[in-house]
Amino acid sequence: MRRSRPEPDLLLLHAPSVYDFRERAILYGPVSDMVPSSTVFEMYPLGFLTIASYLHDQGMNVRIVNLALRMMNSRRFDVPAFIARQAPKAVGIDLHWLPHAHGALEVARIVKEIHPGVPVIMGGLSSTYFHRELITYPQVDFVLRGDSTEPPLHQLLVALRDGAPVDRIPNLTWKDAGGIHVNPHTYVPTTLDYVDLRPDLVVEMMARYRDLESALPFNGWWRNPIAAVFTVKGCAYECVTCGSSQTTCTHLTKRQRPVFRSPASLVANVEAFARLTKGPIALIGDLRQAGPDHASEVLERLRSAGVRNEIIFELFTVPPAAFLREIDRCVPHWSIEFSPESHEQAVRNAQEGEADYTTEAMEEMLKEALRLRCERLDVFFMIGLPSQTIESVRRTVDYCEHLFQIGDKRLSCFISPMGPFIDPGSRGFEEPGRFGYRLFARTLEEHRRLLLQPTWEHILNYETKWMTRRELVDATYDAAARLNELKVRYGRISRRRGNRVAASIAAASALRARLESGLARGGDAATDAALKGEISRFSMSTVCDKRELFWRRRYSRFRIAEVVRIMGRYVAGRTHE
Ligand code: SF4
Repeated sequence: MRRSRPEPDLLLLHAPSVYDFRERAILYGPVSDMVPSSTVFEMYPLGFLTIASYLHDQGMNVRIVNLALRMMNSRRFDVPAFIARQAPKAVGIDLHWLPHAHGALEVARIVKEIHPGVPVIMGGLSSTYFHRELITYPQVDFVLRGDSTEPPLHQLLVALRDGAPVDRIPNLTWKDAGGIHVNPHTYVPTTLDYVDLRPDLVVEMMARYRDLESALPFNGWWRNPIAAVFTVKGCAYECVTCGSSQTTCTHLTKRQRPVFRSPASLVANVEAFARLTKGPIALIGDLRQAGPDHASEVLERLRSAGVRNEIIFELFTVPPAAFLREIDRCVPHWSIEFSPESHEQAVRNAQEGEADYTTEAMEEMLKEALRLRCERLDVFFMIGLPSQTIESVRRTVDYCEHLFQIGDKRLSCFISPMGPFIDPGSRGFEEPGRFGYRLFARTLEEHRRLLLQPTWEHILNYETKWMTRRELVDATYDAAARLNELKVRYGRISRRRGNRVAASIAAASALRARLESGLARGGDAATDAALKGEISRFSMSTVCDKRELFWRRRYSRFRIAEVVRIMGRYVAGRTHE
């Protein structure tokens, strides 16, 4: 007899940035070019996986459904019909990154309309910042605040199941007939080892719900399964526009200092991924923030574990050469992601505080990495920084040429606009005048509306004393076109790919002009319809080819035997239920 599948205790839904993006004509521009997601921002936060892992250990069933990805991949995918077929005990929706302000609220509204009795819970950093406003939306029942909500979420689900009061659940904002209640934000764990991020659960989820697509983190993940292992929550640095800076965390997540995952737990997680995939594994956060001993222990454990996957190290500052040599000794395949944001010291200082490295020191570090076995070195620059002018952006592109002249194709450069929003809660958001910013939105509702503007120039929630929104856009297309030419000239990308990117930049600029003139005439439905198809062609990459961000493929990315073993474990578990 065929057994029915278990309905989840929690259905986690990830919404697109703008819910009805398939029907709208919005030129989102290159705001997502430097992340694996498209402009739909279909990548769900890592928190989905830690929540699923934690609740699984507590005996609960969780299903992740990446609605954004399903909607991207099929124009016919019908969200209300899909939600109507589900019977979850509760629904969780992430509003972690603010660009989801429209989609997350709209998906919550649909869930509430179809399943009025099912509690809708929202969480993530943006939810935390806007919790008092968010809870006033009729479709939102609960908001969980903070950067670590797994145990409070478990308590909430148990209380809802048992009909128990929720007034003692930490970090919870909720409402009843008596009004809005904000429980104290007291759950701020000082260790991260209580929770894991188990990749095998995603495979199990696929088997359990006979659904290969819904749990995938982003479009193209099957082809480029980059795994991410978080190493830290919070940060010791003070970047002006970052919602995870030290000062921001103190207020927003009540985290007074960063907390690090123990080397043993971190490397165990790397091994868990390595059993499943041959793809690269990114360590999110700079290991050296926790001190040299911590970083050394991680490296030593990686060496003992004998992991063969490429390990991507994120560096927030320039490490001593000895650290790079230590990586090289312990990890056979490794690469580096480094984000100086600007090559100009004054701009970097304005963004990062007195940056503790010079551009010359950075170059020395890059050269040292290239002398070693570093397989790939990506350097990221940003547009929209305090003190940064159009000329400064142009000089940064000149500087990229200087780096290309080192003459090693393992090194590449990227430049993109900061956006579409300065993070809520960041120092730039809280004190815009002090850092030379002008904001166009402050509330959640204002951001939700910004997302519906016709071009990314009007979606940006900021401009600076040094560049208007228009100039930010101009500087971006100009920098992108010049950097693309340099990449072709210095062999970073093929002539063919370069031509494609150049055509994409030119077409995006032309579309922008047409949208602007349509706007000036007051806009009309016919123009919208004509532009929609063209705009969607630019929904993946504008200023660079997104494939540049991905790693080259080596045969099959997955360890099929392990996938089969996990599925077998699930099937065996089911027959004993
Ligand atoms: S952007 Fe700056 S403050 Fe934010 S996480 Fe990175 S280093 Fe830390």
